[in-house]
Amino acid sequence: MKTAIITGASRGIGLAIAEEFARLRYTLGLISRNQEEVERVLEELKTRYSVDGYAIECDVSNKDRVLSAFERFHQKSGSLDILVNNAGINSRRTLPVKSPEKWFEGFENNLSGWREELDVNLTGSFICSYVAAGYMIPQSSGSIINISSVKAREPTSSPGYGASKAGIEKLTIDLAKSLAPFIRVNCIAPGFIDTGMTAELPSEKKFSYMEEIPQQRFGTVQEVAKTAAFLASSDSSYITGAVIPVNGGYFMTQ
Ligand code: NAD
Repeated sequence: MKTAIITGASRGIGLAIAEEFARLRYTLGLISRNQEEVERVLEELKTRYSVDGYAIECDVSNKDRVLSAFERFHQKSGSLDILVNNAGINSRRTLPVKSPEKWFEGFENNLSGWREELDVNLTGSFICSYVAAGYMIPQSSGSIINISSVKAREPTSSPGYGASKAGIEKLTIDLAKSLAPFIRVNCIAPGFIDTGMTAELPSEKKFSYMEEIPQQRFGTVQEVAKTAAFLASSDSSYITGAVIPVNGGYFMTQ
């Protein structure tokens, strides 16, 4: 039976990936910053799919917490076949260009947003990948799946979020090259997906994005989860270093 760690598994895309992997009967290591939430998710999946799994509270940007979380999972499950670096934040601290008089006033706030996004999204993915690879290299097998965003490539007024996601795509190819031939590293670049993250968008902004999407709708978390299941499985055995867009054709109109 395959073993998989999914970060940020308590809700949204991470939860859908956990459910898809549960359906495939993978042994789950569900990581989140909130122990109660992730335990509740695990209990539900165990009841519905009779899977094995562990719920682990861990901040992905904290190296020591990640080392001990992954060690605990490996001790209990005996292997680590798949890592999904899904945990992510968008601080929505946008550049104050619409009120230039507040430019310097907003500096500290923007800088702390930038640091948090880089720390969780990019450094967190690096830390988890590094630790996971420590278990995958002796096995001579493994699949690491990163999650970037359309915002890696198009301009965004949240530069920390955009830079962290662009960094994740670069980290994907660097790790894919270093960890080949046996460990595959790929990335999913979701477009606009219906989750808590996009629920915060003002509705006029949502409609204007939808007009730009050839499929004229936001994606579902299940559509991202199915792509993760493909990249985790041997069906994608000759794919590494790839960034797979799941965006309803969004960039065709750019
Ligand atoms: P979400 O906010 O609903 O869930 C994020 C998850 O990450 C939560 O479980 C949260 O607890 C966890 N998390 C946050 N910081 C963490 C930390 N430091 N340590 C451990 N866990 C942490 O987000 P979502 O919409 O499901 O997005 C999931 C991923 O997909 C993110 O990386 C996001 O950037 C990316 N993404 C989302 C969309 C979208 O439209 N929703 C689009 C493109 C990319």
